[in-house]
Amino acid sequence: MSLTPYDEALKLVLENVSTLGKEKLPLWQALGRFLAEDVASHTDMPLFDNSAMDGYAVRAEDIREVPARLKLIGEMPAGGEGSPKVERGTTVKIFTGAPIPEGADTVVPVELTKEADGYVVVNKSLPMGSNIRVRGEEVKAGDLLLKEGTKIRGYELGLLASLNRVFVEVYRRPKLAILATGDEIKDLGETIEKPSQIRSSNNHTLYGRALELGCDVYHLGLVRDEPRTIEEKLKTVQDYDVFITTGGVSAGERDYIKEIVLSLGFEVLFHKLRIKPAKPVLFARKGRTLFFGLPGNPVSCAIAFDLLVTPALLKMQGYREEFPKLWKAKLVRSFSRRDSERREFLRGRLWFDGELLCDFSPKNQSHMLTSYIGANCYIVVYEDIKELKEGDRVDVFPFSID
Ligand code: AMP
Ligand code: MG
Repeated sequence: MSLTPYDEALKLVLENVSTLGKEKLPLWQALGRFLAEDVASHTDMPLFDNSAMDGYAVRAEDIREVPARLKLIGEMPAGGEGSPKVERGTTVKIFTGAPIPEGADTVVPVELTKEADGYVVVNKSLPMGSNIRVRGEEVKAGDLLLKEGTKIRGYELGLLASLNRVFVEVYRRPKLAILATGDEIKDLGETIEKPSQIRSSNNHTLYGRALELGCDVYHLGLVRDEPRTIEEKLKTVQDYDVFITTGGVSAGERDYIKEIVLSLGFEVLFHKLRIKPAKPVLFARKGRTLFFGLPGNPVSCAIAFDLLVTPALLKMQGYREEFPKLWKAKLVRSFSRRDSERREFLRGRLWFDGELLCDFSPKNQSHMLTSYIGANCYIVVYEDIKELKEGDRVDVFPFSID
């Protein structure tokens, strides 16, 4: 099989993703989920004309000439009702959020007034309507506020609460399984018995990333490079929306993933990618389950997850925006490479100093997980580009999607 370009691979993945089912959740449990319904407002916001300041409710024409002396006839706190009507030459003391008394059309902030002996002196003339929040100025009843597919952050929780949405409909979490394969790998806390053994990090990187993306994660543990054992685990693939393995997917003699998935009747959609790192990535489908065979090299594994599994998980949950969202930034250091056949994704740092700047991690090889320390983006080096010069404006892919 020839190398599949990234754009084509991404398209194939997304074509095979369908949106998950919906569930109704109490508001607080919906944090981090994606809305499965359009949310419209059932009321005007604000619902009544009210004061934006602490001060005095007046008629604008009474304060056209200043100083103006007005008779204080009442007081309206927030939540108050039944204010006397503001007639010519009178005023009502008012507080932020309190309904505007009948007859008044303007609020004078307390700082522009002086109150004494039952009268208020206004020292500044203000245009009619000043410091009044008008009914419906923010939202009209029936306005669409949050579209299906919106991620619910703290802000959206607050907005939904202000609409009295005790329950909201969201997409369910993707069920994602992780299986790490390799004769040499030992898990967190296990004893390393031989110098040739290594500590497994991939299952933990994937676990963390999948949780960050809102999945229900099933950790299926570590297995050796033994076809039977791997096959047994892969037989449960249909219990999940997404099944991920790491290791054993390149061209080595003990790389069994491809032959196992073929023997189990998976439809293989691509195997090798024209990207660096993460060339050996196998994408397949069994029924409605997506299968990703990711490489064992820790950086390759993480990059393959970020570039291909992430968009699938987002789309399943209703995310509709373009992926990846690229920004332009100025490179502060030159980069060169000998082989330009593949699109390369450098771990990088993006920051602002008068303009967007970026730099790449000095450790760039696919086994160097330390290249993620301090990184907040990938810097893209496109196919056929051998060199990026200091000062070039390059495409960067920030890690955060919000
Ligand atoms: P493989 O894809 O199986 O050929 O493995 C490629 C490299 O990744 C080898 O150096 C492995 O030791 C390493 N590797 C495989 N699995 C893991 C893992 N779970 N965590 C960290 N490194 C791994
Ligand atoms: Mg291996």
